[in-house]
Parts: sequence; C-alpha cells; structure tokens
Amino acid sequence: MTKHKTIGEISLLGGHPALDFVNTVDSRGARWGPEFLTSYSDLVSWARRLDVIDDEEQRTLLSLATNSPSDAERELIRARELRETLHRILLTETSNEAVRVRDLELLNEFTRQAQERRSLAIVDDTIEWRHSPARHLDSVTIRVGWLAANLLTSRRERRPIRVCEGPNCGWLFLDHSRNGHRRWCSDRTCGSHARVRKFRAVRAE
Ligand SMILES: [Zn+2]
Repeated sequence: MTKHKTIGEISLLGGHPALDFVNTVDSRGARWGPEFLTSYSDLVSWARRLDVIDDEEQRTLLSLATNSPSDAERELIRARELRETLHRILLTETSNEAVRVRDLELLNEFTRQAQERRSLAIVDDTIEWRHSPARHLDSVTIRVGWLAANLLTSRRERRPIRVCEGPNCGWLFLDHSRNGHRRWCSDRTCGSHARVRKFRAVRAE
C-alpha cells in the first residue's frame, strides 16, 4: 500500500490557485477521495504553499484556530463547500451545462466579503488592490473565492480549463499546451498510466 500524500506533498498542476484548490481531493473519477483538506491547518498550509497568505498570516491563522477549534472546524467545512461549488461552476466551462444560480450566489457571498476587505495601496508608484491582512479564520476561503471569481471572469484572456481524463483523477487544469489538446493533469502520472493501459490492451488483442 502506498503512503497517502499530505497537503504539503500533493502536486500543484492546475496552473491557477483556484484550480489547485479544487484539486485538493485526490480523485474525482471512478472513486472520490481521499480528502486532502482534513483539518483547518491543512487549509492554512495549502494557502501558504500557493502564496495566498504569507508567513505572518499563516502564524496568525494557526493561533486563531488553536484558540477557537470549533470555529476553525466550521471554517474547514465552509472551505470544502466552496471547493465543491467551484468544482461545479468550473466544470460548466467544459460542458454545455449552465451554472446553478445557488452556486453563483454562494461564490458572490465570498466575493462581496473579499471586496469589503480590500483597499487601494501604492505599490512601486502604482495603485493596486490589496487584501487587508488575514486576521480572521475565513480569510483563506474569502481570498480563494476572489481568485476564483477573477479566473472565471477572465475567460477571454486565458487558456481553457480542462478535466484530466485519468480514470482515477478528474483534476482541473489550465491548458497551456501548444495545440490546446492537453488530456492529462500530468504526463508523468495520469498520462503514463494511460499509455501503459493502451499498451496492455494492444498486447491482449
Ligand atoms: Zn490526472
């Protein structure tokens, strides 16, 4: 049995933090899971890896979680709810299905809160939007919601979203391939498994 990966070890193949957030479930194919966001500290570790928060914010959020474990647990459940909502919304880009109104409403809640916690700042002589420092347990999910909204509204300026065709995968990624027909989240894992399956099928004929 192979050792189950942790949130600090999983591959970041989405090409955008919102997609990597959706990819915090090992498989959405023939089986679902395992789950990588198993605790609030997993959520914080993930956010630090993706530069959604900085070191100081990571320390602040972890100490908030230590002081209010039940609130942190609730926030973890909310993060997973946002993740599954984003998954459904992002999948509509690859299918003919419409976005569910309820899903868009939930994402809107996060973006409204994000907007309230943003302000203009001068950075290298230019004015930029900045998040106020992460001082609340919901800071990570709110920032992820904001990032996802930006991804969804930038469709014309970016590459299309694809779903990995690996039977035990289903991860999402931005397709940066030259021909625009990338099929696997990773050529080394899902892609090579598919080649092995094809090779065996040919030999069995
Ligand atoms: Zn894959």
